[in-house]
Amino acid sequence: MRRVVSVRTLGVLLAVVALAFGAACGREGSPGGQPVAGVPIAQNVQVPGSPTFAAMQQRGRVVLGVKNDQPGLGIQDPTTGQYTGFDIEIGRMVAAGLGFSPEQIEYRVIPSAAREDAISRGDVDLYVGTYTINDSRKQRVGFAGPYFVAGQDLLVRADDTTITGPQTLQGKRVCSATGSTPIQRVRQQNLTQNVVEFQNYSQCVDALRGGQVDAVTTDNAILQGYAAQTPDQLKVVGVVFSEEPYGIGMNRDDVALRNKVNDLVQASENDGTWTRLYNETLGRSGTPAPQPPPIERY
Ligand code: GLU
Repeated sequence: MRRVVSVRTLGVLLAVVALAFGAACGREGSPGGQPVAGVPIAQNVQVPGSPTFAAMQQRGRVVLGVKNDQPGLGIQDPTTGQYTGFDIEIGRMVAAGLGFSPEQIEYRVIPSAAREDAISRGDVDLYVGTYTINDSRKQRVGFAGPYFVAGQDLLVRADDTTITGPQTLQGKRVCSATGSTPIQRVRQQNLTQNVVEFQNYSQCVDALRGGQVDAVTTDNAILQGYAAQTPDQLKVVGVVFSEEPYGIGMNRDDVALRNKVNDLVQASENDGTWTRLYNETLGRSGTPAPQPPPIERY
């Protein structure tokens, strides 16, 4: 009897040690190194004919291009260094499917205007950051996906009653990010003469709060994240005037990797992972998970 008790005690002790060890391990690793809940790290992955994948394997890490100031999508906690958001989770899911753990992801922050250069130079292996798939960008980079569809909208101060849609911007100071599709649309459609541009949307949001601009325009998914931070100060107008299908950017000529990443996104949609990742990030704002868009294989 005595012996049984001591064995049991030993077992409990071992369990405690194992738990403590596990917890300690969980705190280590790169910023944002939380495991993707329920997404197993694939073993013995091969992507024949993919130079990008070969380079990732050689280095033992994935260099993931991201945004770090877009709540709900891609944001870095300034105190913990952790990255969270739907784009980040999509990136981790793809990395896991390619055989890389969250600790093997190196995050590199790339603003909208620098994406094509960063990808085509090989500074990043994959880019996941509210990156609209379109024909002009396809001349320079490849896209897997889309994994989400957003639409251009407007963010204004909560007490503004004059801006109610894109046709009410004449004479208003409108801010957006350099090199983005929304800033191009404002100019092409001549929605206002007074366009202010910054590298990052958070700079536009600061300018909106400070009264230097009257509206920020970009994808609704991005703007909703900012509005949710200070709903008493900011609101999204809610009139969507474009379609922004989000792709995972990569080397234009690496068709093998593009096919593989498309397969991974498709699998995540089929097995419910996609919906879970959405619910844990963008879905927290209260918008229920949409149907994921069909993958475009070109
Ligand atoms: N989705 C748009 C784009 O790719 C706007 C968001 C962004 O700048 O990342 O240009």
